[in-house]
Amino acid sequence: THAVIKDVLAGRYAVGDTVTVKGWIRTRRDSKAGISFLAIHDGSCFDAVQAVAPAELNNYESEVKRLTTSCSVAVTGTIARSEGQGQAFELQATSVEVLGWVENPDTYPMAPKRHSMEYLREHAHLRPRTNIMGAVTRVRHCLAQAVHRFFHEQGYYWISTPIITGSDAEGAGEMFRVSTLDMENLPRTDKGKVDYSQDFFGKETFLTVSGQLNGETYACAMSKIYTFGPTFRAENSNTSRHLAEFWMIEPEVAFAELKDIAQLAEDMLKYVCKAVLTERADDMAFFAERIDPTAVTRLQQLVDSSFVRMDYTDAIEILKTCGKKFEYPVEWGVDLQSEHERYLAEEHVGAPIIMQNYPKDIKAFYMRLNDDGKTVAAMDVLAPGIGEIIGGSQREERLEAFDKRLDEMGLDKEAYGWYRDLRRYGTVPHAGFGLGFERLVSYVTGIGNIRDVIAFPRTPGNAEF
Ligand code: ATP
Ligand code: MG
Ligand code: MG
Ligand code: MG
Repeated sequence: THAVIKDVLAGRYAVGDTVTVKGWIRTRRDSKAGISFLAIHDGSCFDAVQAVAPAELNNYESEVKRLTTSCSVAVTGTIARSEGQGQAFELQATSVEVLGWVENPDTYPMAPKRHSMEYLREHAHLRPRTNIMGAVTRVRHCLAQAVHRFFHEQGYYWISTPIITGSDAEGAGEMFRVSTLDMENLPRTDKGKVDYSQDFFGKETFLTVSGQLNGETYACAMSKIYTFGPTFRAENSNTSRHLAEFWMIEPEVAFAELKDIAQLAEDMLKYVCKAVLTERADDMAFFAERIDPTAVTRLQQLVDSSFVRMDYTDAIEILKTCGKKFEYPVEWGVDLQSEHERYLAEEHVGAPIIMQNYPKDIKAFYMRLNDDGKTVAAMDVLAPGIGEIIGGSQREERLEAFDKRLDEMGLDKEAYGWYRDLRRYGTVPHAGFGLGFERLVSYVTGIGNIRDVIAFPRTPGNAEF
């Protein structure tokens, strides 16, 4: 039987069972007594299994002793208790079949040498075989599964929103154009400008920046839905928190107010962090050792804490009077920068914050106007170490107020006709939020650069593979 390494190490096989383990060599060590110890990993868990290869193997001199890091092998042997510290089980090899050699073993850039994250991003074959990307990939998977489980248990339906769209859901002008046009021969308007209305067989189209508007249309029929899919923003910036292509989780809830989705956000974050602590203890221990000593305690604290609710207006007062010098000075009306968000979450409160009721002028057109006429029912979740990880709001469900807002912002009523219809036919209060999945993975692992928590980062300069 082909045995997965995590099952071997977890004791799923009895001592004396014969199994075949398939994977890649992490290290080879030869003893003077004519035995080689092969550490083999297959990605199923953090640890490698040790295979003990004796000199009696017919290919011992010719092949086993030539194995180098990253060669692929199929090792058959019997399960034995391990004498050394570390794992409880190892494999006494009766055959070592080499599936693939490494072309240039003297220079092949693999562990035990530790490479920089920048270097790894440039080597597609190497990156996923490192301890760190293996751990990131498993934690990411665990978080995604936990997100789906959480919403499913709460009675939400998962819907897929389109990637190609004609609407700018954020109105922030960060859209990638999608076009079927012949770039050498672009259609022109009478005034000589490119006629983008012809983009997608007669309609101007973009890659979606958020599934929210589409999500709302389903929430206002199915009551509780969420999306979990890729989103795109043409951010030509080199921050450690922004990708051009990232995944978003967007629940949308009918008959809900701001406080309801604030609670939902808190419950969801605790649920998924708990899942990682129990299901990926091996990988979290590695992050605590290598990346951030507080990786495990920080998550446990989050699970046990109550998120602090704070009004934007109060936050501005705190920031103005705290005596700290910020790069961007604050004044009521400005958007919070990550330095402010981090100060509040890390130094002022020491726990995640749910920041609420932002000035309407710095927020998107769809947010519900508060009675003060100046602020909207918006909320951001600010996490220590990273800043904003969630942005959400109660949506403006009143047609009149919504139209007034579109006019104010100079947005075209026609273009949002389908969205306005929700307010015309059985409108209901509703609210939702967007969680940036990579921001979450970054928070959980403690890996500071968002490029390093996704399999293939898309940022300025990273798009080859
Ligand atoms: P920021 O202020 O950090 O640019 P935002 O306010 O523009 O974020 P929203 O429109 O509120 O972002 O999107 C919801 C969530 O999506 C954010 O809270 C964040 O977690 C995530 N997000 C937004 N932009 C990016 C990006 N470029 N890369 C990765 N995640 C992002
Ligand atoms: Mg942004
Ligand atoms: Mg923001
Ligand atoms: Mg936001």
